[in-house]
Amino acid sequence: MKKVILIRYGEIALKGLNRPTFEAKLVNNIKRSLYGLGKIEIIRSQSRIYVEPENENYDYDLAIEKLTKVFGVISVSPVWKIESDMEEIKKHSVEMLKDIINRNAVARTGAEGTVTFKVETKRGNKRFPMKSPEISAELGGFLLENIPVLKVDVNNPLIILFVEVRESTYIYSEIIPASGGLPVGTNGKVMLLLSGGIDSPVAGWMMAKRGAVLEAVHFHSYPYTSERAKEKVIELARILSNYCYNIKLHIVPFTDIQLEINDKCPQDELTIIMRRAMMMIAEKIARANGALALVTGESLGQVASQTIESLYCTDSAVNMPIFRPLIGMDKNDVVDIARKIDTFETSILPYEDCCTVFVAKHPKTKPKLPNILESESVLNLEELIEKAIEKTEILTITPAKKY
Ligand code: ATP
Ligand code: MG
Repeated sequence: MKKVILIRYGEIALKGLNRPTFEAKLVNNIKRSLYGLGKIEIIRSQSRIYVEPENENYDYDLAIEKLTKVFGVISVSPVWKIESDMEEIKKHSVEMLKDIINRNAVARTGAEGTVTFKVETKRGNKRFPMKSPEISAELGGFLLENIPVLKVDVNNPLIILFVEVRESTYIYSEIIPASGGLPVGTNGKVMLLLSGGIDSPVAGWMMAKRGAVLEAVHFHSYPYTSERAKEKVIELARILSNYCYNIKLHIVPFTDIQLEINDKCPQDELTIIMRRAMMMIAEKIARANGALALVTGESLGQVASQTIESLYCTDSAVNMPIFRPLIGMDKNDVVDIARKIDTFETSILPYEDCCTVFVAKHPKTKPKLPNILESESVLNLEELIEKAIEKTEILTITPAKKY
């Protein structure tokens, strides 16, 4: 018997010529995510991918956890690969179901602690002497005899034992849902404006989920924002890198620009002008690094800078698309995703963000572009932006070792 991991991926998105590229990227990303866990063989067969570790002590649980984060993967199953022989199938099926029941991998809800089950067989190997229904019936009977808590329920069983008879036979029961989406790298590169908040890591995750390659820019206003605020953003990028392997993070010193805006522009326009400056810088960094769009965590109406009028003014600062995947989402839904992807606990650490350092009591919620442009014209933005980019620190963030 050999333990392998079965990976299912989305087929709907796989049309025509895209398919080989999609599969090649997916296999490559699977290898990247399992890198360092030990030698594996990857086998592609019938729109599925099997991971076969060489070593018996392979950390299957960690591998499965990592695979659930690989975009493009729909679900994974720990599978036992055994000889296509009825006695072998019986013996190992008993062992597998006992293991699942003992680990409480399924909730026991049946009366008197019974566990309902059924067997589902697919026979691809027509040389195998029994037909699928015969295999299911005989195996089901054998399991009932050998595991007293089992009870057959063909309509709504707690456990389905899947038996796939091919050259070898594969048995499994657990189907663990994964992230879905498209493999990272099947789409172009985007530049994420990553703050220390809840929203922007989620926005980045959503774009990566659609196959985009993420790079990130963070604006730091030292000494108004602390070293710990910066560490927090690095940590958020590290959590995101669990989904996209590595992230180039540009940390831009933003203090001089903010001081200048604060000094020379009307108080109620500070935020919007500051946000325009952020976009201009992000666009320049994006172009220099081959990214074709910016991404933010903005959501309509959340704050003054996220009204339609404000977003219109922000967009006008740049000449590339700004994607806002959270635009129509409620905060609760964003928080749910943040929890699911493990960024939430880090995001709520109470360090200040540059946006909160210089804020007006009553920022304009309906800024007019001509007025903003006029206020902005007194600034020497071009030079300030050049300087900020020159002093930008660039880090490459990779997943944490133990992860
Ligand atoms: P978040 O929770 O992502 O911080 P927010 O609700 O606090 O968002 P804002 O502070 O208005 O909203 O920021 C809106 C968006 O602007 C953020 O989602 C992020 O994409 C970007 N942004 C804000 N501050 C920074 C920063 N210091 N560095 C990089 N991007 C930033
Ligand atoms: Mg914020």
